[in-house]
Amino acid sequence: MCRSLSGADYSSWVVIPSAQFSIRSGQDDIAHYQASENFSKSFCKNCGSTISCVNDDKFPGHIYLAKGGITSEFDMPAQIQVFTEFKARWVTLDESIPVFN
Ligand SMILES: [Zn+2]
Repeated sequence: MCRSLSGADYSSWVVIPSAQFSIRSGQDDIAHYQASENFSKSFCKNCGSTISCVNDDKFPGHIYLAKGGITSEFDMPAQIQVFTEFKARWVTLDESIPVFN
């Protein structure tokens, strides 16, 4: 589902507890798509950029923030790879990063 919703080979996310996240401004510019009972996506109404996802099947109580959309300086290398069973055939996993399926 992530591949089709993102339109990309794979996506990079920062996953944090939902209780530690809030949007301080711009709420009116955010649209939500409920893809399934436990999976939703938020995106910008103006440009379509992905903002976040919630996947209560995999990480209940957490929000995925689209890593590419974070514009502040930070250095956060990938820590786990998930949903690798759904990866495109042409994507090669980084064997130095643990897989969590
Ligand atoms: Zn936008």
